[in-house]
Amino acid sequence: MNIYNTLTKKIETFTPNEEGIVRLYTCGPTVYHYAHIGNLRTYIFEDILEKGLEYLGYEVLRVMNITDVGHLTSDADSGEDKMKIASAREHKSVYDIAKFYTNAFFQDCSKLNIRKPAIVEKASDHIDTYIKMISKMLEEGYAYLSNGNVYFDITKANNYYELSGKNPEDLMIGVRDTVEEDKYKRNPGDFVLWFTTSKFENQDMKWDSPWGIGYPGWHIECSGISGKYLGEYLDIHCGGVDNIFPHHTNEIAQSEAYFGHKWCNYWIHGEHLNDQSGKMSKSKGEFLTVSLLEERGYNPLSYRYFCLNSHYRNQLTFTWEALKSAETAYIKLKSKIKQLNRTPNLSDKKLDFYQNKFKEALGNDLNTSSMLTLVYDVLKDEELSDFTKLYLIDDFDKVLSLSLIEEPKEVSEELEELILAKIKQRNEAKKNKDFALADKIRDELFEKGVKLIDSKKGTTYELI
Ligand code: AMP
Ligand code: ZN
Repeated sequence: MNIYNTLTKKIETFTPNEEGIVRLYTCGPTVYHYAHIGNLRTYIFEDILEKGLEYLGYEVLRVMNITDVGHLTSDADSGEDKMKIASAREHKSVYDIAKFYTNAFFQDCSKLNIRKPAIVEKASDHIDTYIKMISKMLEEGYAYLSNGNVYFDITKANNYYELSGKNPEDLMIGVRDTVEEDKYKRNPGDFVLWFTTSKFENQDMKWDSPWGIGYPGWHIECSGISGKYLGEYLDIHCGGVDNIFPHHTNEIAQSEAYFGHKWCNYWIHGEHLNDQSGKMSKSKGEFLTVSLLEERGYNPLSYRYFCLNSHYRNQLTFTWEALKSAETAYIKLKSKIKQLNRTPNLSDKKLDFYQNKFKEALGNDLNTSSMLTLVYDVLKDEELSDFTKLYLIDDFDKVLSLSLIEEPKEVSEELEELILAKIKQRNEAKKNKDFALADKIRDELFEKGVKLIDSKKGTTYELI
């Protein structure tokens, strides 16, 4: 696979540390609110990467964190802690907030056919690991204690600006005048590993530590969780482009200080989804969620299709019109596939040809739109039998995950008996002009996943 590496700013041929195995870490969500569809664009790209690597024959070990504590990013954080705001807004404990939005996140992922990583770990469950790492960094002089907090000294890091490609002056330009600089730091770019004093004094999640009662900084959670579950050598680390600085930059600094060697070889970042007013963000108030798409009548997979039509390294602007045309194309595609004859008739001819083309598109820096085009090419190819087309589309869908081929659902004998009895009961109700009962029967069946279809010839049914 050829893939763009943010670290080297080049497209490179991917080679894992251990043959055939990929150790992949992807930054997880902050769980003080629903994920917006911009966040989910990043998780769609990571899902394609994971499944794409598997398609190419790798075994992928993937880990993701849940940021339920410690998302203070810099001096620029202002106002109240986001978990506390959510807790007051919803009259729940911060633990319940985290649990609720973690579940909501995975429900959204499931609607978008984003697979849940094999290992998902909460930041708040690994305090011991962070304490161990921070203690070692203090002992070795990478970190220092000041006014009760433990800071990482960025001047001790090896090539601190390599990932972001920035220089210290650039980074200072972004700092707002109104931001009160933390005067206890040695260097303006130093970041906190452990807080015992901060502007958010009334944190609910606090733990004892050698430096006093407090809580970890944001960045240490990803280094800690990744190291614990994937070891000291990571192959790929992903996130959205906003994570490049400071989050991933600081992760590299502290992980390499702790392990004492280079940590991760490939850094892959997804570009943002924008709305028409600019970057989508949770702090903007109203934001677009999967539920909102559903409320407006869209199938969440139309959004996945919309994302796959553009390259993960390009910014993408969301509009309802664009989603509408993606949905129209997606429905047309599915209906073409539905019309294919399922009688088994597989021919080897051209299987390799198309599978190799698919691998080529995948290996060309995850070219998802070319991967989609191949589905259309297969459909159009008159040399392929319908069954061979279905075989290939099903194969590509292992990566695309657009539910392109839906298995006709089987009806058990018991269910069939029940449906037929209910249809009879409903027909009688209609004859007696008891339409309320007839509708009730129809709705009850619908809730069981059975849709009744009335026609001149009588009533039939379909499983939904
Ligand atoms: P958060 O829950 O805010 O930590 O973000 C979760 C993931 O979404 C991170 O990998 C971010 O880089 C990514 N992200 C944030 N905003 C956007 C956006 N507008 N478009 C795409 N990805 C985003
Ligand atoms: Zn992270």
